[in-house]
Amino acid sequence: MAVPFRRTSKTKKRQRRTHLKLRVPGMVECPECGEMKLSHRVCKSCGAYKGRDVVSK
Ligand SMILES: [Zn+2]
Repeated sequence: MAVPFRRTSKTKKRQRRTHLKLRVPGMVECPECGEMKLSHRVCKSCGAYKGRDVVSK
């Protein structure tokens, strides 16, 4: 079995793990207010969808 010649440095390890991060699937930033919202759904905080207000408050 092959054995690593060098120990993986902290930097290399961290560079590799930049792709392993927590993220909520299907959540996008609202272009109107910047809040996180579910994609393809009306924004919960400002009530906008596709650039216009669809839920009046
Ligand atoms: Zn919004």
